[in-house]
Amino acid sequence: MMVVQSVLKVENGDTLGAVRGVLKSLLEKNIVDALLVPLESPSAEQVTPTLVKEPAQLDAANPLAPVMQLNAAALLVRLQKENPTMRIGAVMRPCELRAVIELAKFGRIALDRAMLVGIDCMGTYEPETYAQIARASTRAESPTDEMLRWTRQGPIAPYRLRGACQMCEFFSVENADLAIGLIGMNVRERLLLEARDDIAAKLNLRPGGANGRAKALARLAEIRKHRREQAMASAAEMLKDIPSLLGVIALCTACGKCQAVCPFCGTEAFIPSAARTGEGILFSDLIRWARRAASCVQCGMCELACPNQLPLAAIQAVLGRALQKQYDYVPGRSVEEKLPWATA
Ligand code: SF4
Ligand code: SF4
Ligand code: SF4
Repeated sequence: MMVVQSVLKVENGDTLGAVRGVLKSLLEKNIVDALLVPLESPSAEQVTPTLVKEPAQLDAANPLAPVMQLNAAALLVRLQKENPTMRIGAVMRPCELRAVIELAKFGRIALDRAMLVGIDCMGTYEPETYAQIARASTRAESPTDEMLRWTRQGPIAPYRLRGACQMCEFFSVENADLAIGLIGMNVRERLLLEARDDIAAKLNLRPGGANGRAKALARLAEIRKHRREQAMASAAEMLKDIPSLLGVIALCTACGKCQAVCPFCGTEAFIPSAARTGEGILFSDLIRWARRAASCVQCGMCELACPNQLPLAAIQAVLGRALQKQYDYVPGRSVEEKLPWATA
């Protein structure tokens, strides 16, 4: 398979309109039967992944909005099960795409019935913060517009973003059938498209490249790396010895919300039986922990769901780091890469 790189001209500075146009072409040219894509509510305060079959519905699509209510990889599992003959295009952020790759390895997503459409991600706010910003914003400067102002240089003031996004190192797209590049681009004028050659031919994409992208990506990576090291150091402190660990466990009320939203759990995975039942930790708990630590894509949905504000993304990063390092395993890097516990 070859990848074709192309530059898409943006008309009248309407970046979102250009992205919607590309997505409409996928439906109009029958490249997919339906798209799973974030749709804005009429008030524009919420953006929710929704299955869309009609091109006109994409007038409300906003995959650029800096908010993430759930990891849509989990939704794709359900949609594929409910629609076994449908070829679904999934328009996702890098952390969601990486979860899709991991779920494909678990046999829970069929990649031959999915088309993966990825978009660079500058980070997301918690849904409540996003709704507040959307309410306060004028029509001319939505939270999406505000975020798009930063794509050219790469850096963005990270303090209001979700904790997981502040330390996210995987903000550009890999492993997609069609990737839309924003970082390093003047997105009011052009977008970068990278497509599988057969898709590029159907979309009539002409080869072309972008300058300045590598520099902007490197700059953002440096900022995120610094933040990640800080977050992981403070999480490691929380886990450094048994009393510290017990202090963390004491904060957990075993509500189960973190596991309900994790694309890899669905079943009980994060809370040890000890917390659920007051009994000792079971061997099966350790297995579940290790499997999740290996595949965790650092989307931070668990942290978002936690009513006790436990820094779960950083804790997961610390727990998973040794295992991932030992096996040189990067979750979501490649579908060909075997899960560490399948090779051990
Ligand atoms: S974790 Fe990374 S890819 Fe996911 S929403 Fe945050 S910045 Fe985007
Ligand atoms: S453990 Fe948390 S950060 Fe990791 S994949 Fe699951 S929800 Fe995302
Ligand atoms: S969401 Fe927080 S409090 Fe609830 S089980 Fe998970 S870690 Fe514990």
